[in-house]
Amino acid sequence: MYNVLWIDLTDEDFWEEEVDDALVRDFIGGKGLAARLLCEHLPPRVEPLSPGNLLIFAAGPLTGTPAPSSGRASASAKSPLTGTIFESHCGGRIGYHLRRAGYLAVVISGRAEQKTLLRISRGKVEFESAARLWGRGTRETEREIKQKPGWGRCSVACIGIAGERLVRFASIIHEGHRAFGRGGLGAVMGSKNLKALAIRGEGSVELARPEEFKRKVRECHAKLAEHPTTGKVLKLYGTPNVLAKVNYAGLLPTRNFSEGVFEGADEISAEALAKHIRGSYGCYVCAIRCGKVVEVGGVRTTSLEYETLFALGANVGVANLRWLVEFNELCNDLGMDTISAGGTIAAYIESRQGAIAWGDAERVYALLEDIAHRRGEGEALAEGSARALPEYSVSVKGLELPGYDPRGARGVALAYATSNRGACHLRAPVYIEEILTQSVDRRSREGKAALVKQLQDLHSALDSLILCKFTARALTAEDYAELLSLATGIEFTAEDLVTAGERIFNLERVFNLGEGLSSKDDALPERLLTQPIPEGPSRGMRAELEILEEYYRLRGWSSAGVPTREKLRQLGIDYILRARS
Ligand code: SF4
Repeated sequence: MYNVLWIDLTDEDFWEEEVDDALVRDFIGGKGLAARLLCEHLPPRVEPLSPGNLLIFAAGPLTGTPAPSSGRASASAKSPLTGTIFESHCGGRIGYHLRRAGYLAVVISGRAEQKTLLRISRGKVEFESAARLWGRGTRETEREIKQKPGWGRCSVACIGIAGERLVRFASIIHEGHRAFGRGGLGAVMGSKNLKALAIRGEGSVELARPEEFKRKVRECHAKLAEHPTTGKVLKLYGTPNVLAKVNYAGLLPTRNFSEGVFEGADEISAEALAKHIRGSYGCYVCAIRCGKVVEVGGVRTTSLEYETLFALGANVGVANLRWLVEFNELCNDLGMDTISAGGTIAAYIESRQGAIAWGDAERVYALLEDIAHRRGEGEALAEGSARALPEYSVSVKGLELPGYDPRGARGVALAYATSNRGACHLRAPVYIEEILTQSVDRRSREGKAALVKQLQDLHSALDSLILCKFTARALTAEDYAELLSLATGIEFTAEDLVTAGERIFNLERVFNLGEGLSSKDDALPERLLTQPIPEGPSRGMRAELEILEEYYRLRGWSSAGVPTREKLRQLGIDYILRARS
């Protein structure tokens, strides 16, 4: 039996509702469950920063179990950056605590009258004043919350200054360095006067078939240990391992996507970083342990990911690891998405046409602070690049692009254009096949529409289980389906799992159409369509979306990108049309 905890901040009220098995079978948990709840309970066209928006933290049926890399949780809401349905995922132990407190999800509605901290434990929600915490950084906030007797081992998700000031790409931070990073969910939290939630889970998670589950978990761990990426590369270097490969392909976005080869790549690569690694860490029950503790010039940081090295390194022209460590620490403490921050600053530097030098790290640091505090030029930039600088913005649906230039990879281009949350490399990580392993020809359109669809559906399911995406390098849909069946007692085949992912993807699409989005939003930035990559191995390549129609067809959507009633009926979600139109 699964429960959802509802919390109304306006009336300081809370209650529990049971989730029936049919909902788990159809939407699993995590992203899927949250999408289903948002479709049902969030009226169309709600202003994202109004009390009417819902903020949902969700775990999945595998969270809190010994399933490998299953400590993650999702946060979902209507995004203030993109205006779309949005979910963002975070590692650590927060999902574990949520499940062990007895909940599959927590739905937060309304707006607190005073600055508030929520303390959640099994069957109990305390509404505590957060006046003393307002204005503080995320690390200090978490430390302070854990001072209370009995709360030293809880999990905290909190916002920093950026969330308080409603920066549209503010994130929610957990353990000081893990983030529900993208889409401005930190601003949604700030708009609710909610500084933090602390969750203390002390119960257990029941498994339907515990002995068989344990056997399957051992088998999955063995597969992960044997695979070169999960068993070795990620363990040694973390996500920065990809930087050299992306640069080698000529697709490392440099100086606001004006180039694809960064001359300073060697200085910020995994090899350069390796000399400064002081330790490794992982999320709950993760043997991969991709997290690295890095110390450069006496400054320590954790979770310095590839995306930060690209966004606040190559894309703004900074080739200095010491500064990247500083940027990472600052963004984590302010609670700000490094990809959107970097993309917005890159657009700003370009717009100033030489008034700010590329690679001026001191200026980048000052801009990050100004954005978070919404002061000076930071006030406009806090709105994100698409609102502040549309002419220079490199974004899709308002979300700044991640670190793989879509001009040189046809599948990546389609994945960015059709992701329901805006430009995202993780909703269909086709960059792995096209750029990292090169198991498919990145220049070819052949088979890419089908590959992107297949990855979107599988990863929608993975984000609902919830298991870390990196496990997909070694595990298959059959593995996930078996784990899910043994944990829940609901029989899932690999096909059922992927169909659930497809159902969730279509549900999100229907949500977005109801918000006024259309096929026009399945687009790429004009500059990437018209300006070819100037130099390097991908020289001359422009972005294109020639396969968009084929993709719509494969999805069973109309030529205008609208899921047909027949498709929705087939997926069992045609009822949702009434709720969202
Ligand atoms: S691989 Fe990394 S991000 Fe994924 S669960 Fe493990 S430590 Fe966390």
